[in-house]
Amino acid sequence: MQNDQLWQAVLGELELQLSKANFTTWFRGTFISSREESKVIVGVPNAFTKSWLEKKYHESILKALQSLTERQIREIFFKVETKKLSEPEATNLIRDIKKIEQEETEPALSSFGLNNRYTFDKFIVGKGNELAYAACKAVAQTPGKTYNPLFIYGGVGLGKTHLLQAVGHALAQCQNCKIMYVTSEKFTNEYIQAVKNGRGKEFKDAYRNVDLLLIDDIQFIAGKEGTQEEFFHTFNHLHQSNKQIVLTSDRPPKAIPALEKRLLSRFEWGMIADVSAPDLETRIAILEAKLKEKNYALEREIVSFIASHVQNNIRELEGALNRIMAFNQFNNTPINLENVKNILSTISRPASGGRANITPKTLIKTVAEFYDLAIEELIGKSREKRLAYPRQIIMYLMREEVQSSYPAIGQELGGRDHTTAMHAYHKIIGEIENCEKTKQEISAIKERLYNC
Ligand code: ADP
Ligand code: MG
Repeated sequence: MQNDQLWQAVLGELELQLSKANFTTWFRGTFISSREESKVIVGVPNAFTKSWLEKKYHESILKALQSLTERQIREIFFKVETKKLSEPEATNLIRDIKKIEQEETEPALSSFGLNNRYTFDKFIVGKGNELAYAACKAVAQTPGKTYNPLFIYGGVGLGKTHLLQAVGHALAQCQNCKIMYVTSEKFTNEYIQAVKNGRGKEFKDAYRNVDLLLIDDIQFIAGKEGTQEEFFHTFNHLHQSNKQIVLTSDRPPKAIPALEKRLLSRFEWGMIADVSAPDLETRIAILEAKLKEKNYALEREIVSFIASHVQNNIRELEGALNRIMAFNQFNNTPINLENVKNILSTISRPASGGRANITPKTLIKTVAEFYDLAIEELIGKSREKRLAYPRQIIMYLMREEVQSSYPAIGQELGGRDHTTAMHAYHKIIGEIENCEKTKQEISAIKERLYNC
């Protein structure tokens, strides 16, 4: 048998034993590089695949080879070597990669519109989230009894939506349990549409007939009076019938501006739990879990490097990993620390679209809205404490996100001295390190900045 034919037959066998994703990931671009009587050298596209095949698939490959050659082959070696692909092979390759990536990025939605990945068993518990996790678990075990409502708050990308939906998944197991998951924006839009179309009653019925109401990002209900009113009644109705309510927000109830007092007090009735940025150990554990899920291996040194580089946000941590994997697949280049450093140096900032469009004016406006202050107040002369801190945040962000000079920052903020801007910048840097609240507020502001 020709080498090519033999290898195709081996692949045919292996394909039956492995999942499709695994098979494509590890055997794409492999071939028989040379064969002597009892020895086969398998060419593989990179060092990374080589070590993986040696560790995991050595035996299955040998077995397959032996069964096809009547035991002639006794040894296999792997060698990094690229085979020039024929045109159709290259086309197929690209198609496969695209498919895998699509499977990864398109969330598989299960019942009630919940993302299949957001379950308790895929959630890594660490210092920053253990309280929120325990509270969600408790609620999932005895809904409507332990903490009602449960209010989870914290910065962007720290797992609030994941936990919220995990409660939904857990209760979706019970028969006849009606679950509703919505963002507060969707709730608002549906409410407005319902009122417009004279379908208010349907709207009420839909939300008041559930056993579990999950509202994501409740902070966006701020300032919307009609919706708050409607939500207030929905809340009371469910609470009185011992139906569970879980809410998430980017900040604690007290810090949501323009939230009606009666809603605020209800949000504080039950349990309030925060999620904060994961420590290094948790970040490593999360990366390792994701690698396992994706059936991918990275050296420890690289995992530690990613974990120490991407600190604030788990979504970014996942993003970093996806980029590294994509880089490896597309370029057929081995992953080493040098590559990883290069890849990561481009991810701490949002990709195209965001950064370039941010001006000092939009920044001031965003911060003003975030703290519910008027722009005139922020750029005005008053030194009141309630204004001083948001002003320092603006100065910090202008430096970080717009790269303005200190004199320019002072100028934008009502003609202040450049030393004031410099002082503010360094003060906020210190606070980000030491104060969780500042850190979370800044990431929430950045999210608004880049998402508008
Ligand atoms: P948030 O709602 O707080 O902005 P998400 O819940 O959307 O954050 O989480 C962002 C991403 O990070 C999701 O893909 C989520 O699965 C993942 N993630 C967050 N926290 C954890 C964790 N503790 N363990 C595993 N994955 C996590
Ligand atoms: Mg979320």
